[in-house]
Amino acid sequence: MTTLTAAQAADLVAANRILVRQGVLDAFGHVSVRTAPRADTFWLSRNLAPGSVTASDLLEHDLDGRTDDPRRPYLERFIHAEIYRRRPDVMAVVHSHSPSVVPFSVIDTGLRPILHMAGFLGGRTTPVFEISDVAGDASDLLITSSSLGAALARTLGDAPVALMRGHGSVAVGGSLQEVVYRAVYTEANAHAQATALALGNPRYLSAGEAAAANATISGQAVRAWDVWCERARPGIPAADQAPGTGRE
Ligand code: MN
Repeated sequence: MTTLTAAQAADLVAANRILVRQGVLDAFGHVSVRTAPRADTFWLSRNLAPGSVTASDLLEHDLDGRTDDPRRPYLERFIHAEIYRRRPDVMAVVHSHSPSVVPFSVIDTGLRPILHMAGFLGGRTTPVFEISDVAGDASDLLITSSSLGAALARTLGDAPVALMRGHGSVAVGGSLQEVVYRAVYTEANAHAQATALALGNPRYLSAGEAAAANATISGQAVRAWDVWCERARPGIPAADQAPGTGRE
């Protein structure tokens, strides 16, 4: 068992709100965090729309997806549990259905970095989890068991992002700030890549460019977090936000 400090709880609530405001989460999807490297529990809201999450909704889950709280957990909590089990470096996980990413889960053209801000995607094609390989051709596509979560985590491997065919994606990071940054820019990159593909043959970042851009920019994710936090404060209506903020 671990405890979540008030500051850690506030950050997890903020991550939920930011991801909604940035168009990554809607009524569905979720974000989790663990409080120490290799901790065998993690913190995730109870089953609730992310924009409604408050500190009192955050539940500690073990790596089998269990929680002592009687309130209903998310169906797909096993995504988080099995990634934490497999990846000691991961401290935070986002699962989303963000709209620009999903098309890249169902075609042969892989998601690749086209923006310098998405250098974290690296020089390879982002892996795609094919659920029918493990659940047959009549599943509901949801990750509702430890075994399905483990299969997804194997597809993710050591990557920062994996797509889930016909469903969405998962992003991982070494902190909440990093995973929120990655989730937002995975969506932005997918949008830009789709636009470029409609115009012609995109030139992607090379592996070296992706690595160099990531090294320069990864230390600055906190700046994005601070700005997004301010915009996502309760009481600030979405209509007051600057145009285009959903893609920044
Ligand atoms: Mn889902």
